[in-house]
Amino acid sequence: MDFSLGPEHQMVQKMVREFAQKEVAPFIQEWDRKQQMSPEVLPRMGKLGILGICFPISLGGQGLDFISLGLACEELEAVDTTLRVVMSVHVGLCGLSLLQWGTEAQQQEFLIPLARGEKIGCGAFSESGAGSDVANLQTTAKQDGTDYLLNGEKMWISLASKADFALLTARTDSNPKRRSQGLSSFIVDLHSAGVTTGDIKGKLGVRAGSTGWISLQDVRVPKESRLGEQGEGFKITMSAFDSGRYTVAAGAAGLIRACLEASVAYAKERKTFGQPIAEHQLVQAKIARMASDYEIAKLLYLKVGWMKNQGVRNTYETSMAKQFATDASFNAASEAIAVHGSYGYSDEFVVERYLRNARGAMIYEGTNEIHSLIQAGYALGNRTDKALRREMPAYEPQRWQAEAAGIREAT
Ligand SMILES: Cc1cc2nc3c(=O)[nH]c(=O)nc-3n(C[C@H](O)[C@H](O)[C@H](O)COP(=O)(O)OP(=O)(O)OC[C@H]3O[C@@H](n4cnc5c(N)ncnc54)[C@H](O)[C@@H]3O)c2cc1C
Repeated sequence: MDFSLGPEHQMVQKMVREFAQKEVAPFIQEWDRKQQMSPEVLPRMGKLGILGICFPISLGGQGLDFISLGLACEELEAVDTTLRVVMSVHVGLCGLSLLQWGTEAQQQEFLIPLARGEKIGCGAFSESGAGSDVANLQTTAKQDGTDYLLNGEKMWISLASKADFALLTARTDSNPKRRSQGLSSFIVDLHSAGVTTGDIKGKLGVRAGSTGWISLQDVRVPKESRLGEQGEGFKITMSAFDSGRYTVAAGAAGLIRACLEASVAYAKERKTFGQPIAEHQLVQAKIARMASDYEIAKLLYLKVGWMKNQGVRNTYETSMAKQFATDASFNAASEAIAVHGSYGYSDEFVVERYLRNARGAMIYEGTNEIHSLIQAGYALGNRTDKALRREMPAYEPQRWQAEAAGIREAT
């Protein structure tokens, strides 16, 4: 068993860390206060190749593996959650679903511009009445000649107002044998007639990011933009979560690391009762927990990254990695505030933002309660993985890296 990272992994870590430290960290507090980020950030991530990190070069990506994707997410969220969320929806939910389920024509039309960062993608499943119970969604897609007409409203969609395309799940059969069989997936051009989008204001966290709604009124979507077969939408949505949750898990490991680093620095500086608070054992206990939680979260996501590279199904392991890391990151942020005392309660220090950002990841991509149910299902033998018509392809370096990798040129 080899736990070391290869030269390409280290290169990704260094490049993304430098980008996040130099181009995000100095400005994130201002973006968070204004509840918007600079419009230059996403094009910059595209130029650096981060938005296409794990897609084959022939499909506009950087030809790197799933572990590289996880490492990039960790580095982004070690500075702020906002840009990791971009990776979760653009790469995780949308791009990787196209890689798994898309036809060659769909990959040419949609995946290449996403991987190059020329277009932005998102994943639109939730509605005001359907989050955990996603099979209850009410958005409809009715066939009309060679097109579908989509009507409904998606809610709580990350990048709703910023994305060009959405992987969107809609109901194509109102009376199926099982509710989940009545759903289909579409790649919807969000600039189409009948689409309106907007942002939700007043969120607890990820304030620099965009989370919003997508309203669809008689939106015409050609049959060629249906991803997978009609009726396959539930399976596609669940497999999109296997990709998205991985990025959430890796990012949350970065957030734990950030809490640890902030707490160590502050604990060495701040003195009470004549000594640095780092000398007090109760403060040490908090720091020790953050350090071990970081290691566990990292091992869990790297294992999932390895499984993905091998092309091994990982729904169970991804669920554990996501739930553990996001619970631990919320705990780490709360304890980091404790270490900072009153100063942790103001936005003068970063840990206040960490706590607000950490809470959301326990809700999206499956609430952590739903993850307990998923894991109990596997552990009790009530749930097993059924083979999919299209599995996520294993990482094959030769196939992925047919040409020189642009990420090296960009750094
Ligand atoms: C910041 C943010 C970004 C998001 N981004 C996206 C996105 O990009 N795309 C997208 O499609 N969605 C997105 N969402 C939506 C998110 O995925 C849903 O909010 C989430 O799945 C929970 O659904 P809900 O809000 O309807 O809660 P509900 O499903 O109503 O759940 C309410 C509570 O009941 C619990 N609960 C529900 N069912 C059970 C059960 N069977 N057993 C035990 N407990 C249960 C839940 O755990 C929760 O505590 C985002 C949400 C947030 C906050």
